[in-house]
Amino acid sequence: MIGALAMGLLDLLLPRHCVVSGRPLANDEPGCVAPEVLRQAKLTAGDYCSRCGARQGEGIGAIHGCGRCEEFKEGFGTREVCAVGDYEGVLQSLCLALKFGGERAAAAPLSHYLIQLVFDRGLADKVDAVVPVPLHPLRQYQRGYNQAELLARPLARALSKPLWNDVLRRRRRTKAQSELSAAQRRSNVEDAFEVRPRRAARVEGRSLLVVDDVMTTGATLAACAKALKRAGAKAVLGAVIARSTVGADT
Ligand SMILES: [Zn+2]
Repeated sequence: MIGALAMGLLDLLLPRHCVVSGRPLANDEPGCVAPEVLRQAKLTAGDYCSRCGARQGEGIGAIHGCGRCEEFKEGFGTREVCAVGDYEGVLQSLCLALKFGGERAAAAPLSHYLIQLVFDRGLADKVDAVVPVPLHPLRQYQRGYNQAELLARPLARALSKPLWNDVLRRRRRTKAQSELSAAQRRSNVEDAFEVRPRRAARVEGRSLLVVDDVMTTGATLAACAKALKRAGAKAVLGAVIARSTVGADT
């Protein structure tokens, strides 16, 4: 077991590499991504769907309901959803590094984008607290952290809102969503979340911003919104890093 101090020393001795391009990083380049790589990130700008967060073609503007969320006529149980960008390129690489590569540092540039987006969309004044999508305790133990929480914490700080990371919990261990079809994803997470009984009073009447890394069918977000609303939440909004269509139509 290497202690934090030893790891710090190793950082000084061994060159760090960009987690996306692999280029060695200079000492004056903080973080885990090379700046020229970060500049390539394709972000959602003025053309988006506020119901599902999907980026739209140029000139479409802001719409509420698009081809990518058509099947969710009733919405995701969320009032609106915003996504930093599509699940591709730099955003995808950083999400993968954060989720499966053990790269906690990848959360910093991603949450930076998320903060910018939430302010740009005017969501800052619409929510009372920030709620990360929880992992099952066993999965969190294996990974060592909850990536959604690493993204949500700086966001909550920037918004000056509380981070409620113990409000939601998983009732059971679910399969990894990435391995499943759209229909399987919905049944996989259906009723998978609940509000901890001792936290229910907090949730009542509040507007909450649920944060996750990747959104594909929206099943996870919808299941979280359902649990929060069942506990009396006034409104649930969603903020994610990447909007993916992979597996959505299979
Ligand atoms: Zn949409």
